Amino acid sequence: MIAFEQVDKHFGDFHVLKGIELRVEPGEVVVVVGPSGSGKSTLLRCINRLETISSGSLTVLDVKLGDKGTDINRLRRDIGMVFQHFNLYPHKTALGNVSLAPMKVLGQPRAEAEATARQYLEKVGIGDMADRYPAQLSGGQQQRVAIARGLAMKPKIMLFDEPTSALDPEMVGEVLDVMKALAREGMTMVVVTHEMGFAREVADRVVFMDHGRILEVSPPEVFFEQPREERARAFLNRVL
Ligand code: ADP
Ligand code: MG
Repeated sequence: MIAFEQVDKHFGDFHVLKGIELRVEPGEVVVVVGPSGSGKSTLLRCINRLETISSGSLTVLDVKLGDKGTDINRLRRDIGMVFQHFNLYPHKTALGNVSLAPMKVLGQPRAEAEATARQYLEKVGIGDMADRYPAQLSGGQQQRVAIARGLAMKPKIMLFDEPTSALDPEMVGEVLDVMKALAREGMTMVVVTHEMGFAREVADRVVFMDHGRILEVSPPEVFFEQPREERARAFLNRVL
């Protein structure tokens, strides 16, 4: 689904991603962890080309991202992204937020888009809040609207960048539960998170980044019990 081959990325003089090699297979859940500033968000943002790579090759859903003529809008339709800050439209209801892109981008008639949106709001456990505006929802509920909005485009890949980091602690669980359910259904997911419990339980593989490099890719039982890398061990000692 995703293949990074010797990918480098610079911001001006700053070398943010270094020699990235990573493949994500269909249905896989890859959890990316590492210290702040290590390049996790940049790695994620390259996948839907919110950032462009400087060199190497990055192939997503059989499309090579650097190629001229790549239909980036087409590709983005197939990739849902959920951010730390929910980025909901404040002047639209939950239903309006979830049905907007299917209408605008996919050209679905309103009735169809709204019916589908209601299904996804049900799916993330807030079917009864369809008519509320973001300001009338808790942080956990807003983030679940954001996930429903991503799913309404029927993506093939879902990217999550610290989706629970801005939430009050008591709301983290409800968002992680939605993500766990998605993982169980076979969604291909790349998740940046500090929730080590989630990584341990849900990840097929854990990717550890530090200073722009991937230092370790291991199944969670290996990563958490006997990390191969010294810096991964030091990181885990700090966060666990
Ligand atoms: P992480 O998500 O692991 O915290 P990021 O990918 O956000 O790391 O950032 C990695 C490094 O790149 C940080 O040092 C950050 O300051 C820098 N960086 C991120 N975005 C930009 C940008 N648009 N321009 C310049 N530097 C950036
Ligand atoms: Mg980040």
